[in-house]
Amino acid sequence: MTDCIFCKIVNKEIPADIIYEDDRTLAFMDIRPVSRGHVLVIPKLHSEDLLSTDDETLRDLIPKIKIIATAVMNAVDADGINLTTNHGAAAGQVIFHMHFHLIPRYKNDGLKPWQHHDSEPKTRAELAVLIKNNL
Ligand code: 5GP
Ligand code: ZN
Repeated sequence: MTDCIFCKIVNKEIPADIIYEDDRTLAFMDIRPVSRGHVLVIPKLHSEDLLSTDDETLRDLIPKIKIIATAVMNAVDADGINLTTNHGAAAGQVIFHMHFHLIPRYKNDGLKPWQHHDSEPKTRAELAVLIKNNL
């Protein structure tokens, strides 16, 4: 038994509008879509979030996401698509079974997910060093 809602969907303990399934992957409609055609793609194997998902699972998943994203875009006649994952509560993660969002975008849909800000060259350079030193 698991408390994970997405594992429950994988195990068919609760229903979902499944659009793709194979031995390792499941894709289904988001219950509270950001836009028309919003789909979630998950590995069946439970991992909490992106950075704790093993490389082999991700290698298997990414080409399937391409196929599913193409189908979504064609099905809803989208003009673009956002592929996102929220890693951690601070980033908006609510369900702690790793998932990618496929959010179809439409010309003039008014969705503005990110706000950009100006930055100073010195600050950027310092941050680049800081990050490189953590690789
Ligand atoms: P997160 O915020 O964790 O990145 O995204 C979780 C997503 O799962 C949300 O977009 C939410 O609407 C969706 N969701 C939550 N519970 C369920 C559910 O029971 N079924 C389906 N199909 N989607 C769900
Ligand atoms: Zn799970």
